Amino acid sequence: MDLNTYLMFWVCVFGLCFGSFYNVVILRSLSGESIIFPPSKCPKCGNRLKPWHNIPVLSYIFLKGKCYFCKEKISIQYPIIELLTMVLFGLSFWKYGISYSTLFVIFWLSCLLIMTATDVKEKLVDCNIAIAMAISGVVYAGLAGGWHGVLHSVLGICAGALIMELIARAGFVFAKTRAMGEADTYVAGALGAMFGIFNIVKVLLISLFASMCFIIPVFLYNKYKADDKPTCIMSIIFTTMVITFYSGLQNYWTLALLAVTGLLLAYFVLKGIDSTEKRNYLPYVPALAAAAIYYIFFIF
Ligand SMILES: [Zn+2]
Repeated sequence: MDLNTYLMFWVCVFGLCFGSFYNVVILRSLSGESIIFPPSKCPKCGNRLKPWHNIPVLSYIFLKGKCYFCKEKISIQYPIIELLTMVLFGLSFWKYGISYSTLFVIFWLSCLLIMTATDVKEKLVDCNIAIAMAISGVVYAGLAGGWHGVLHSVLGICAGALIMELIARAGFVFAKTRAMGEADTYVAGALGAMFGIFNIVKVLLISLFASMCFIIPVFLYNKYKADDKPTCIMSIIFTTMVITFYSGLQNYWTLALLAVTGLLLAYFVLKGIDSTEKRNYLPYVPALAAAAIYYIFFIF
């Protein structure tokens, strides 16, 4: 076995173990418990897990997805997060090899995975994770490109956060509420730090596309079931805007129309900044994470 295959094996094993840890982080960042204490226990019967119940993926298969003590079903989230972490670790090593880039990329992907999971589960995101990503993004840019890199990275934070905040506040125009949560602004800023001012716009465009493909349909279906018509209408308008925007990139007349709409929108957005507190967001962190992953592995 050559060195790279050997290392890849261990990177994947580490990925599984870290994935197991991320499950705990996801669970406890939602409940506000400490990450280190108390030791893992079954949420139903409260029995402390034995060490061999904590082996990533394998324990889930051997226990047939049920708690050893009370036979309560274990969430499929556990093996999924573990496998996803393994794949992301493996891909990072495959693309960047033995370098400090691999460590940074693994850190960013881990943060995105945790925030995506909490956003999907509870629409809650720990913004401190995004801040840690932003700081590491600036450090990485400094290591790779000196002060010039740091400048691009810091400008990237401003651009990412500003663009996302504008999109979120466009919601005030249609439904007197933000279209997306505050966390999306933090995450977009963090991506700006990672990719820099020139790339962040492209990453955000990809995220719009990603949101149209898989988030908006699911979100709309849930809102439709919950009989939440205003949110449905707002999301449809949002989707229409995105489609118009994409076709606008091909045609100057549509682009001009978009510019006018944009100015009108900006006026309403600035007018409606302190509107009502009704919160019904599109979970957008998954789209940002998908765009970042695509960008890291296929373009960056
Ligand atoms: Zn149990």
